[in-house]
Order: sequence, then C-alpha cells, then structure tokens
Amino acid sequence: MKKVSRAAWNALAPTAPYTRVDSTRGVKIHYTGGPVPADIAGPTKHKLCVQLVHQIQQMHMDGGRGEKYIDIGYNLICCPHGYVFIGRGAHRLPAANGAGLNSQHYAVLGLVGSSGFTEPNDAMLHALRDAIEYLREEGDAGNEIKGHRDGYSTSCPGSALYAWVKKGAPRPDKPIEKPIKVIYEDGIPLWPGRVIKLADPYMQGNDVKTWQAKLRKRGWTIDVDGIYSPKSKAVCVSYQNKVGVKSTGVIDEGTWNITWSWEPLTCKLLCRSPAGEIRRGYLSAVSRSRRA
Ligand SMILES: [Zn+2]
Ligand SMILES: [Zn+2]
Repeated sequence: MKKVSRAAWNALAPTAPYTRVDSTRGVKIHYTGGPVPADIAGPTKHKLCVQLVHQIQQMHMDGGRGEKYIDIGYNLICCPHGYVFIGRGAHRLPAANGAGLNSQHYAVLGLVGSSGFTEPNDAMLHALRDAIEYLREEGDAGNEIKGHRDGYSTSCPGSALYAWVKKGAPRPDKPIEKPIKVIYEDGIPLWPGRVIKLADPYMQGNDVKTWQAKLRKRGWTIDVDGIYSPKSKAVCVSYQNKVGVKSTGVIDEGTWNITWSWEPLTCKLLCRSPAGEIRRGYLSAVSRSRRA
C-alpha cells in the first residue's frame, strides 16, 4: 500500500480522543459529494489530492456535516494516484457513515466527486482495494463491502463507485497505466511520443522498460522494472553525460534516439597502429565501451 501518513499530509490533530472499535462488519465506500478538479488524476497533480484531503478535514472539523467532528470523518482516503491517506486509521470509530452506523463499518473515501472527476481510475481502485485489505488486516474489518447509500439516504458514493462496489469491489487486473505500445522499425524502437521524466507518482510503462533494458544491455546497472525512479534518472543523467547531450535526466525524443544510435568510438580508431596491429590498450578500451 502506498501510504500517506498523517504527518505527510500535515493533518490537524484530533480535538478529542478517538473512540476505539475492536472490529467491524466491513467497510463502506464514500465519495466527496462535491466538485473534484477534473484534472486531479494528472501525473503532476497529486498536490491537489493533498489539498482536497485538507479541505475535507477542515470542513468536517468546522461542522460542515452538521456537528463538529473531532477529525476527518473517514478512516482512510484513496486518491487517483494510488495513494492511501491515513485519516482516523484502523480501530477508530469513523463519523462519515451516519448516526448509529459508524460502529458497523469503517469509512473509506475515494476522491471522486459529483462533478469534475466523477469516475475512479484504476489507480484509485487499486488504492481502495489496498485500503479494504489494510482495514481487514490491521483493523479486524469483516468481509462486507458496501456503499454509504446502503442503509442511508444519500447519493454517496456516486454511480460509478457504487457500480464497482456492487460488482464486489474487484481489483483491476489491468496495469495502473494504459500500456504504452513500443513500435519497432528495423529492430529500433521508435520514440513512443511521451517525455519520460521523474514525476510523482513515478512514470511507468513499456517505454520505460524498453529504455531501461537497452541501458542494461549497454552495461549500466539499472532495474528493468518499467518504473522511472530516481535511480533510473541518475543512470539517464550519467548516460547523457557520457554521450555528450545535455544532462537533463529527461528522456525526450533526442535522448531516446541516441540511446539506440550512439556508438562508442571503435577500437579501429582507438587501438590499431597504422600497421593494423592491435595495441595493448585494446582490451581495456573494449571493456570501457561495454559500459556505454
Ligand atoms: Zn458518504
Ligand atoms: Zn493523488
């Protein structure tokens, strides 16, 4: 689970002690019920999620739901980047299910709204699944998975999330990002058309994997996992340095192409004497070029 601790989202402290729950029958899924920025799922927009969780906590503590809650009403909050924010956490009575209903189910919020971003993406569904499993393991939640509207008059959690709940809240079997197709021409992969760079969350896909595999083949120590992590970026910077393009750590079209087209100076140039004899430097030049 990609967990965001309360410290990491800078949560306000609760205004009173939590009420402990030993176990629940399961989990109820919620949505925000208000507008959520339509572009919130963008690769650089995770800060909007953090802001939104803050706003919701503030609203709950200010009495926006009728009474002043001691904290955000949810146990966990899931965002479209696959993160799970710790709200009240496990073994703590939520406040979001409605009076008399909170001791029966934990409350988990998906950051979808009634307008703007209204349908959960796969990353959020993975996060919701992670949250449910976490509450089962850490909070003795039972097997029930319901929507807020079950047993309470509300539109929550919206039609898209509720349809997912009714299907049994399945974990998507698709990878989190749409798979990027890498097309080869004469054995050379064409630039897939997106700039690969360090992002939050990390960019991932077949294009990243293809690029990593080529660098590995060229002798670099790099994980071929399809995730563009800081380690991958460091290799990219070193590689760009080596081949003499600007060391940006960003795989644009130029860096992509040079990953396949660059060739180390050949031993013919480096190592052969005019008579064609191989000089003593040959072997070390070869092992150096392997690293390229
Ligand atoms: Zn709700
Ligand atoms: Zn996010």
